[in-house]
Amino acid sequence: MVGFNAKNLDCIESFYICNFCSLVLRKPVQLIDYGHRLCQSCANEQTGKLIRCSEHCEKAPRENNSDQNIDALKEVFQTINILSDGVGNLVGELKSLSTECDQLGNRLQTSIQESSRVHKSIEEQHPSIDDIKSKQEMIEQEIPSIIKKIDDMSRNSCDGTYTSRITNAKEKIAAAQSRTQPSIYSPPFYSSRTGYKMSLRLYLNGDGTAQKTHLSLFFVLMRSE
Ligand SMILES: [Zn+2]
Ligand SMILES: [Zn+2]
Repeated sequence: MVGFNAKNLDCIESFYICNFCSLVLRKPVQLIDYGHRLCQSCANEQTGKLIRCSEHCEKAPRENNSDQNIDALKEVFQTINILSDGVGNLVGELKSLSTECDQLGNRLQTSIQESSRVHKSIEEQHPSIDDIKSKQEMIEQEIPSIIKKIDDMSRNSCDGTYTSRITNAKEKIAAAQSRTQPSIYSPPFYSSRTGYKMSLRLYLNGDGTAQKTHLSLFFVLMRSE
């Protein structure tokens, strides 16, 4: 049985290293001539009066060093191992941090590229946004006439018949008699969906020779759209 092995033998003071097996001393004994230390087992392996260390042949007391030294050595050995584990962990953490840092850097790069691509495409789309605006304005201008057409289509007859309802007849008759508004027009109506557009013109107080004696009703053929 030789000394204790440790991960970082190089860093341990020579005071704690066996001069024979070059490991951490196990139950150290101190030789007499030069004071070098060996594991007890390393010393016991040798027979004869003189004990060989790595450099000399020395007289051996063949006695245990004090137990205090052994305990202190054990403690040092444990501490060294703990520290060595700690350093190992730190190195691992440092590596993973560095990897994370690299990944973040890559992501940032990708984001910057994506952002500049989006920016460029927005700039390219800008003219077409103007086009859309002007088209929208045109459509907005057309909306009232479209609404009127739909209104006409829905309200007006498309089968050649037309039922007229005259509202406020009294006032309209008075307006016709005073000639402030001699005639009124009906809304347009159609002979069919694609047929003639027509309306009725009504003189409530008569027109021409019929004035003041008859109603005059004219059938008006209109210009279609
Ligand atoms: Zn040894
Ligand atoms: Zn020696």
